[in-house]
Amino acid sequence: MIKGLEDILNHKSINPTAMRLLVLEFLLKQSSAISLTDVEKGLEPSDRVTLYRVLKKFGEKGLVHSIDDGSGAPKYALCAEDCVAGHHHDFHVHFFCTACRETSCLTKSKIPQVVLPEGFASEEVNLMVKGTCSKCIP
Ligand SMILES: [Zn+2]
Ligand SMILES: [Zn+2]
Ligand SMILES: [Zn+2]
Repeated sequence: MIKGLEDILNHKSINPTAMRLLVLEFLLKQSSAISLTDVEKGLEPSDRVTLYRVLKKFGEKGLVHSIDDGSGAPKYALCAEDCVAGHHHDFHVHFFCTACRETSCLTKSKIPQVVLPEGFASEEVNLMVKGTCSKCIP
């Protein structure tokens, strides 16, 4: 298990420290995007600042992307294989379920191409859909 985790970090040019391996292992177990507070609670006792630095490093290296779901705290989710340092390709829809309040990556739902007026250049596109997820539809 740990060997596989190290490979994932090495593949993204991240030094596999004990803390980074722990955070990665925790992220792999999640079915939805999680906040820094969720990571902190899941890995108690651990230092919030250290965890924040780990997530920030993962973000810079193309391992996780952060999602603003309007809850006030960014959520983190693992990236698809092809994200690289400084360049993310997470052009999928994010879904916020108003019933279970979970945020998920809908990796199969791609963000449609947005046509911009002349003179406008996009840097990033976010598409957040709110509603009820498959677990919560009665
Ligand atoms: Zn990414
Ligand atoms: Zn739900
Ligand atoms: Zn995502």
